[in-house]
Amino acid sequence: MASNPPERPPVPASVEEAERTIRNQKFETVHVWGADGVYRFGKNGDENSADPSDEEKAFVKDGLFLHNHPSDYSFGRRDIMFVLSANPAEFRAIGPKTRYVIIRPASGWPNNFMAEWLKWLKTFSDRHDKSFISRKINEKEYNRRVYADTMKRVTSTLNIEYREEGF
Ligand SMILES: [Zn+2]
Repeated sequence: MASNPPERPPVPASVEEAERTIRNQKFETVHVWGADGVYRFGKNGDENSADPSDEEKAFVKDGLFLHNHPSDYSFGRRDIMFVLSANPAEFRAIGPKTRYVIIRPASGWPNNFMAEWLKWLKTFSDRHDKSFISRKINEKEYNRRVYADTMKRVTSTLNIEYREEGF
């Protein structure tokens, strides 16, 4: 029998401080707060990833996972895979101009999260192809739109709270 995940703790004040520190970096950094709101660990990676070890993933469960996206894009395939395997209560990416947040639903992360993401990625890739091919938008803008539109649609379809905050 599946049990509902524990209630979400308030976001620790140190999260925003960490966001300011890492948002303009060219490499990825990860910071994790436990389910109790206590800071657990941080680590640096390369331009694309700073994957936690299996041991570190245990701290991520029910906690808040923060990392930076040097690209400023929304969540991608690896992010969704990580969320499904590590089961955080809140998952954040911070970029130079944007903060992305997803909150675990009371019933847990949906099993079809990845399948839906792939489905909508295809839809929105096709939709923005014309603008890219006719050079109305460059590759960075194309990727930005595809990832943002995909995430918005998937989260509204699956009733996952999603925030995209520009600054
Ligand atoms: Zn990421």
